[in-house]
Amino acid sequence: MQAAVLNFFHRWLSYNTQTADDQYFFTRRREILLSRILILSAFMEIVITLKDLLVMKASISVYIDLVILMIILVSFRMVQTGHQKTAKSFFLILMNSFTVFYASALPSDRGIFLYFFPLITMAFAIFEDEEIYLRIAFIVLPILLLCLLAGSDFTLFGDFKLATAKNGKYNLVINAAVTMLLVAFFIEFMMKANRKSESLLRDLADSVHQKKEAIEKINKELDRFVYSTSHDLRAPLSSIQGITKLALMDSDRTHDLEYFNMIKNRTGKLNEFINEIIDYSRNSRTELQNELIDIGEIVKEVISNLQFLDHAERIQFEVNNSSGRMLLDKGRMKMVMNNLISNAIKYQNLRAEQSWVKIEVAVEGADCKINIEDNGIGIADEFQGRIFEMFFRATERSSGSGLGLYIVKEIIERMNGTIKMKSAEGKGTRFEISVPAEK
Ligand code: ADP
Repeated sequence: MQAAVLNFFHRWLSYNTQTADDQYFFTRRREILLSRILILSAFMEIVITLKDLLVMKASISVYIDLVILMIILVSFRMVQTGHQKTAKSFFLILMNSFTVFYASALPSDRGIFLYFFPLITMAFAIFEDEEIYLRIAFIVLPILLLCLLAGSDFTLFGDFKLATAKNGKYNLVINAAVTMLLVAFFIEFMMKANRKSESLLRDLADSVHQKKEAIEKINKELDRFVYSTSHDLRAPLSSIQGITKLALMDSDRTHDLEYFNMIKNRTGKLNEFINEIIDYSRNSRTELQNELIDIGEIVKEVISNLQFLDHAERIQFEVNNSSGRMLLDKGRMKMVMNNLISNAIKYQNLRAEQSWVKIEVAVEGADCKINIEDNGIGIADEFQGRIFEMFFRATERSSGSGLGLYIVKEIIERMNGTIKMKSAEGKGTRFEISVPAEK
C-alpha cells in the first residue's frame, strides 16, 4: 500500500511540467493530462469516501464511492499500460453515468449537473485530433444528458433516492466551486501546452536557422572547392594536351603516333569532364547576367564549334529562328545549347541514311521556346525518367560523364524555365525548353 502511494506520487512528479523538457511534455501532453485527472480524481474520491464513511457509516453511498475509486484506479492502470484510448472512453462513459445517477438520486438544488461542464472540457482536452469523433461524442453526450435531466423528471432507478433532505445553498456552492476549479485546471493545462508548443516552435525555428546557415556555408565552401580544384586540374592538363600536339607534329614513328593519339584522346575526355564541372560550378556560383542576345546566332556558333566531334559532318542541321533578340543569360544559354546539340551529334543513328537535327526558336507570350529534335538512337523507355539525374548514362554509346543533362536542367531551373524530353528508341529525341525572356 505504502509502495503504491509512493509510486503514485512518483508518477505525479515525473510528469512535472516545470522540469520535464518541452519536447517530452508536448508529445505526451494528453497522456500527462489524463494521468493528472485520474490522480486528482482519486484523491478527491478518497476524501469523499472517508467523509461518507464517517457521516453515513456502511451506507450505499460508501459502496458507490468505492466503486468510483476502483474505476479511477483501473483507468489509471490502463493509461500506464498504454491503453489510453480505452481508458479515456471507459472513464468518461462511467463518469457521465455517475453524474446522471447522482443528479437523479440527489435533490436537484445540490447542482450535481454542474459536473457535466468539467466532463465536456475534459473531452475537449484529452482526445487526439485523430480521435475527433470520440471528442465530439463525449461533448454531445453530457449536453444530451443535461437536456434529459432538465427537460424531464428522468431518474436512473425509479424513485430511488440517496438523500432527500434539502441543504439549501451549501451543497450547491461546494459543487459549483469544485466544478469551476476543475474547468480552470483543464484550461490552465491547455494553455500550458500551448505555451510549450510556442517555445518548441521558437527553438525549432532557431535550430532550422542555424542549420540553414551551416548548410549555406558548406555549400559555398564546396562550390569554392569544385571551382578551384577544376581550374587547378585544368592548367596542367592543357599543357599536356599542348605538348602532345607538338610531339604528334614532330614524331614520325608509327608507335609513337599511336600512343600520342591515345594520350590525346584520354586527355580530351578529361578536359570535357573538367569543363562540365566548371559549367556546373559557374551556374551555381554566379548570378543571372541577362543581356540582349540572339539565340539563332548562339546556335550557329555552337554548331560550328562542334564540327570536330566524330561524325558531325553526317548531320544535316536545320535552324528555324523567329525570335529576334531577347534578354537572356548568354553564358548559360551557350552551355545549354552546347550540351543538347553535342548530344544530338553523339547519339546520332549511324545506320540512318540521313541524320538530321532540327532546332526551332520562337517567342510565345513572355517565354522563349526552344525545341531541339533529332532522328538519333533515341532513349529506352525505362531510362527516360532518369536522364536528368547526376552521372546518369542511358546507353553504352556514351563516353561522357553523365553530367551534361543534369547541368542543363540545373541551368534551366535557375532561369525559372522548364525542360521536357520526348523520345522513342530507334527513332529520335526531342527536347522542349521554355524560359521567361523579355524582348
Ligand atoms: P553523357 O552524354 O555524358 O552520357 P548526358 O547527361 O548529356 O550525359 O546524357 C545522359 C544520357 O541521356 C546519355 O548517356 C544518353 O544515353 C542519353 N541522351 C542524351 N541526349 C540524347 C539524345 N539526343 N539522343 C539519345 N540519347 C540521349
